[in-house]
Amino acid sequence: MIVMKFGGTSVGSADAFAQVAAIVADKAAEQAQTPRPGVAVVTSAMSGVTNLLIDAAQRAANGDEEFFLEAENALRVKHQTVAGQLIDDGNERAALGRIFDERLQEFTRLCSSIAVLGELTKRGLDVVSGLGERLAAPLLAAVLRARGVPAEYIDATEIVVTDAVFGGAAPQIEPTEARCRARLLPLLEQGTVPVITGFIGATAEGIPTTLGRGGSDYSGAIIGAVLEADEIQIWTDVNGVMSADPRIVPNARSLRQLSYEEVAELAYYGAKVLHPKTVTPAIEKQIPLRVLNTFQPEHPGTRIAERSDHTGGTVKAITSIRGMNLITVAGRGMIGVPGIAARTFQAVAGVGANVLMISQSSSEQSICFVVPEGSADTVIDALRAEFKVERERRYIDEIGGHGNVAIIAVVGSGMRGTPGLAAGIFRAVGNEAINVIAIAQGSSEANVSLVVEETQAAEAVRAIHDIFELHKPSGERSSQLQRAGGIDRT
Ligand code: ADP
Ligand code: ASP
Ligand code: MG
Repeated sequence: MIVMKFGGTSVGSADAFAQVAAIVADKAAEQAQTPRPGVAVVTSAMSGVTNLLIDAAQRAANGDEEFFLEAENALRVKHQTVAGQLIDDGNERAALGRIFDERLQEFTRLCSSIAVLGELTKRGLDVVSGLGERLAAPLLAAVLRARGVPAEYIDATEIVVTDAVFGGAAPQIEPTEARCRARLLPLLEQGTVPVITGFIGATAEGIPTTLGRGGSDYSGAIIGAVLEADEIQIWTDVNGVMSADPRIVPNARSLRQLSYEEVAELAYYGAKVLHPKTVTPAIEKQIPLRVLNTFQPEHPGTRIAERSDHTGGTVKAITSIRGMNLITVAGRGMIGVPGIAARTFQAVAGVGANVLMISQSSSEQSICFVVPEGSADTVIDALRAEFKVERERRYIDEIGGHGNVAIIAVVGSGMRGTPGLAAGIFRAVGNEAINVIAIAQGSSEANVSLVVEETQAAEAVRAIHDIFELHKPSGERSSQLQRAGGIDRT
């Protein structure tokens, strides 16, 4: 039994829907021959839809009462076009039309109230932004039926139970498991494909939530884990996880195999191909993940499991995350004073900021760490308050931020402690005259990260990708260590 998640571009047009239906039909036939057959599908909204919904809600909050009406029209046309092209049965089309009407009425009603109130709460935004999946999933189920694959639409608010952290809810595994199994297993047993909305869930009381942007991958993994699927497949628009974002590095290579740890690092540091939390449910149940290309389904993509295909010590991929701020707490009076680091991070935690990287100078004269730009001011204020006395006594003389930076993460299992790698990384960026503002080894063995100016991030990724020759098959590369150490192989 497998869970197949399809992303926004995979359901971005009528052609893409037809392609997805063909892939699911194939897999369902293949699965029917296995001892534990079954295919469950999780879908994102059609590409661009979630952004449009969010934009409309935000504009409504600012008093714009026109835009959401235009958006409603665009959404209707977008979904009706797919139905019109792929579904012949009049009853199916009428039933879908009613679902679209209901969702779009909900959308305009919500946006009107947001406009009247002049306020958009996180809870309200979750309801609006989840509508895209609730339009796409019934459509995909109908497209599958039109192709002769028995399929049933399932709204994840019925089966994925979360906490009430709107905009980034966490699943509650026990009730989610109970509901998913009760609702989905009978369908799977009778050979029906459940088509489930990604991205959304609801609290135990039934209040709709979302798992955060890009969260359909996470939905796929949660559902795969509670059903104890044999594999969780993430179908997207590239040939699996690549050695870098192909939009930044055009000659990036697709990676055949990665460990959960490697992928977790890549996703955490900005590789959009997988939501950062996707690996967690998979690890718990030791279910392999596979990242595949909807538009090139014969490509093997990337398999992600406990072990990767190397014993370690090699660079696999480079990723970058922008929109960061490097905060520094510095002063000579910090040397040997216990508790400064603890108080620093307590103050940061107190304002709920997420620390992505920490780097401390060996002299203990400063502590630097990276937070998202949006929380920098609050963090700095909290630190200035925490260290008021130390600042008056001049034990600490600098608490400030360096804005518009990016973290570059160099990822590969067992890299940490491999001699020469850091030298290679520095040589790569040095050759391009890119200034490294800070460096840190990630908390795992699989990551070395550096901070650079945001404007130089893409160049830094390309330079590091180049020096480690990640565009070549691994067997054709010069020894990474020799290169890193500056010794040319002749
Ligand atoms: P989906 O809609 O299928 O979820 P996303 O747009 O969320 O797709 O993620 C796929 C995109 O992630 C790719 O088109 C690619 O541009 C981007 N990406 C960033 N880093 C990587 C990487 N290391 N490997 C593959 N794709 C990456
Ligand atoms: N549609 C949602 C988003 O755009 C979820 C997803 O695509 O994974 O964030
Ligand atoms: Mg995605």
